[in-house]
Amino acid sequence: MPRWCDCNQPMSLELHTVIFAKKIEVKNVPIFSCMSCSTYEVLKPVKAHLTEYLQTIELSLHDPYQVVIFSDIDEVASLFCDLYKRNVEMDLEKIGDVVEVYKEERINLLLDVYQCALQMNDEGWMSDTQRRLEQLSQFHLEEHLSEAG
Ligand SMILES: [Zn+2]
Repeated sequence: MPRWCDCNQPMSLELHTVIFAKKIEVKNVPIFSCMSCSTYEVLKPVKAHLTEYLQTIELSLHDPYQVVIFSDIDEVASLFCDLYKRNVEMDLEKIGDVVEVYKEERINLLLDVYQCALQMNDEGWMSDTQRRLEQLSQFHLEEHLSEAG
């Protein structure tokens, strides 16, 4: 199931660098993009996290220019980043199963990490891991795809 652009062309999934207010460069942001009309759209769950994140860094903005690797802090961005590194073809018609397998592997790993953080009684690490688990388990690619309109 592809995602369709308003111009009726199928969109593709890409990692994009987004620059905010000419001051903050955010790399590895997953987007849907349309080759025909150059529209792009940040994936919805990622967009919510990105907006929230930008609000927090703007408050503590000392540097004139910052570069953020979004896949380091966002599990959905990290998921697509890993798929790119593994040279998985970003074909929205085929990628669903690969995404599910990856998600399961990564969730198991994060659960181990959580156990570790729990044993060390590290609350910061525990809440960070919990947040990552939520980002990943709440992400379902098919919810962001659409039938041809
Ligand atoms: Zn378009």
